[in-house]
This record gives sequence, C-alpha cells and structure tokens, in this order.
Amino acid sequence: TVTVGVLALQGDVREHAHALSSVGAQAVPVRRRRELDAVDALVIPGGESTTIDKLLRAFELFEPIQDRLRAGMPAYGSCAGMILLADRVIGGIEGQQTLGGVDVTVRRNAFGRQVESFETDLSIEGVEEQVHAVFIRAPWVEEVGPAASVLARVETGPAAGRIVAVRQGPLLVTSFHPEVTGDTRVHQLFVEIVRDNV
Ligand code: GLN
Repeated sequence: TVTVGVLALQGDVREHAHALSSVGAQAVPVRRRRELDAVDALVIPGGESTTIDKLLRAFELFEPIQDRLRAGMPAYGSCAGMILLADRVIGGIEGQQTLGGVDVTVRRNAFGRQVESFETDLSIEGVEEQVHAVFIRAPWVEEVGPAASVLARVETGPAAGRIVAVRQGPLLVTSFHPEVTGDTRVHQLFVEIVRDNV
C-alpha cells in the first residue's frame, strides 16, 4: 500500500485524508520534515495559497518539499494547492512564491469576486463519466507549457473553455475541490499515479 501525506498546515486536511483512505492509500498528515520524509506522495489542499506559502517557510517545509518534487515525488494540489504547484502565478500578492513543478501559469481568484464559488459537471481525462466540481475562489490555468497536459476544461457558462485540471508526469492539479463532494475518483486517479511511481 502507498503512503500519501496530506500537507496539514491549513485547509481541508481531513476530507482529503478520508478520500485517500477510501481508495486504499494510507493517509498521514504532514507538518514536519520527518513526516514528509516518510511519505510516497503529497496532497496539498485548498485554503489560501499566500498563507500556505508563509506557513511552509515557518515550518521549514518549503525547500524539503521542493527537493522531493524535483526528485519526482508525486503530488496533487487542489485550488490553493494548484497555485502552489504551478511554476507561475498571475494575481499573487507581493513576494508570493510557489513550490512549482507544473509548467503552467495560473490566475488566482480567476472566476471573479462576484461569483466566488460555483459548481459544474466536468469530463476529466482518465476518469470515467462526469465529475461534479466545486470551485471556491478558485484559480484557473491560463497557460500550459509543453510538458503539461490539460485534463479538464469548464464546459458551460461564462468560464467555458477555461482549463481546470492539468497533469505533468506524477503531478496533478485541479482548480476545484473533489474532497468536498464525497466523490473519490480524482483521488483514485492520483493514487493510481502514485502506485505507478513507487
Ligand atoms: N483563493 C485562494 C488562493 O488564492 C484559493 C482558494 C481555495 O483554495 N479554495 O489561494
């Protein structure tokens, strides 16, 4: 069985851990360096990317995670987690940094302030049948470099065509929050990526 850490500095840690356990992974919270060292892969939950960025430094996890990512550790980032795994951010605050790894440019709070959250059904490559996606002050992916592949786009409404799921090798990012719907298929997809990698 694979051990998947959930970065436990802020956000929906329990929901991710629950989704991971229900697809057969061992889920453990990661707050310290030695906890990071013990995992095969890492989930970075939603929350506030600027806060998680600061907490990563305060907990001395920023560089260790970056080193693991560069060494090929699989990671899944949802919402703020997507921002943290993106190589480039538009609309970040002064001094905001990302761990990087996925060759994309994301736009923070892209769906606009008026419509802070919305829900829609999406087709995701690698997942059978549509997934109900919940977006909460979410980023979208504005540019995708050659190493990354688009897995999903918004299909209807004013944001139609916007890229909301991307994979680059063992790295997966989504704008939305699959952990809040009780649907575990995105976690299943990630755990399959982790299993192929260990
Ligand atoms: N707007 C948040 C950010 O910029 C992300 C929101 C979320 O993770 N639900 O980090």
